[in-house]
Amino acid sequence: MRNFKRLLPLFLILILLMSGAKSPTEKLEPKNVELRGKIVCLAEEMHTHYKVELFNKHDHLYGVKTADGKYYTLLRTSLAEALFVDERLHEKDLVISGRVFPKTQLLEVTRFLSIRDGVLHDLYYYCDTCYIRTVAPGDCDCCQAPVVLIERPLNVDSTIPSP
Ligand SMILES: [Zn+2]
Ligand SMILES: [Zn+2]
Repeated sequence: MRNFKRLLPLFLILILLMSGAKSPTEKLEPKNVELRGKIVCLAEEMHTHYKVELFNKHDHLYGVKTADGKYYTLLRTSLAEALFVDERLHEKDLVISGRVFPKTQLLEVTRFLSIRDGVLHDLYYYCDTCYIRTVAPGDCDCCQAPVVLIERPLNVDSTIPSP
């Protein structure tokens, strides 16, 4: 018992240190999200809803409008590039996975799929000469022919799409 009393202050210090370690400015972490929605021009949306001034000719500010009406701004990364440059993707219902950063609505895309007839579809670009798959439109790295957009149901066995 005497030993315990002697150690008590030490315990208290230890507890203080442990609890103190958590509190100072809690570290903010990006949040993983899975959003369902469409790609829209945020500037045009804000023009429609809030009469924000908009030049007819403007650089589109692309973002996601979710099914429940939330907006996220798209960060232009290589994995998101297709969403900026391929307007066919703007017509589709998408499921977008990614990260949203603390205190922002900025979205970093890590993956996107489409929903067609209630079924999830993989979206990617493909060169059927070289069997090379890419994440964005453009010319094939190998043969320089343009890659084509492929949209196919998930969970299909073969990895090579039929033409
Ligand atoms: Zn626009
Ligand atoms: Zn090729």
